[in-house]
Amino acid sequence: MGRTLDPVCKMCRREGIKLYLKGSRCDSPKCAIERRQASPGMHGYRRGKLSEYGIRLREKQKLKRFYGLFERQFRRYFSLASRSPENTGEVLLTLMERRLDNVVHRLGWAPCRASARQLVSHGHLTVNGKHCNIPSLLLKVGDTVAVKSRPRSLTLVRLNLQNNSMPVPDYLERLEGEPQTGRVVRMPTRDDIDPHIQEIREQLIIEVCSR
Ligand code: SF4
Repeated sequence: MGRTLDPVCKMCRREGIKLYLKGSRCDSPKCAIERRQASPGMHGYRRGKLSEYGIRLREKQKLKRFYGLFERQFRRYFSLASRSPENTGEVLLTLMERRLDNVVHRLGWAPCRASARQLVSHGHLTVNGKHCNIPSLLLKVGDTVAVKSRPRSLTLVRLNLQNNSMPVPDYLERLEGEPQTGRVVRMPTRDDIDPHIQEIREQLIIEVCSR
C-alpha cells in the first residue's frame, strides 16, 4: 500500500484550500495555510494565472489529495464511474465516500483519513464480523464496521471519539455502546460528501480525465 511522505501542509498550500489532512491541527492557529497563503517554493508568491488545463488539473489534484489517493487508484475509480449509467462526476465522488478509510473517519473514529487508514491497516477493525485491513475496500448498503474487542483498539477509538466534533453523515449510522459499531444505511449521494470538499467542481475533473 502506497502512501505519500511529502509534507502534507504543502499540499494544502499548493491547492490554496484547507484539505484537513492533519486532524485537530487543521482547526488550530497552527494550520500552515492560515499563516502562509502562498504556494510552496521560492516563487510561491509570484505564481501566475493558471491555464484552462491547469485549473482542471488542480481540481483533480485537490480531490485526490483530500481522499489520500495516488493517480493509479484515482484512474481506477474514474474508469468505474465512467462505465456507470449515472452522472460520472457524482459516481466518482460517492465511490471515494464509500472507501473504508473514509467511512472510519466520518464515523468519528479517526481524526483524519491518514489516521483512519492506519487504524484499518493495523488491523483494529472488522467488516461484517471478519478481520479487514484494506483501507480502499468499497462498502455497500448494510455493511457493518466494528472495532475489535481488544483494549488497545477500543481505547484508541474511544479517545478519538471524545475529541471528535463532526456529525455522522446521514448515510451512516453509529451504534452506541461497546465495541463501537457503524453501519452503511444507504448509498451516499453528492450531498453526503464531506462538507470540506463540497465545493469541488467534478465536471472539471471529468474534463481533464477524459482527454
Ligand atoms: Fe496543514 Fe491541516 Fe492546515 Fe492543511 S488544513 S495546512 S493539513 S494544518
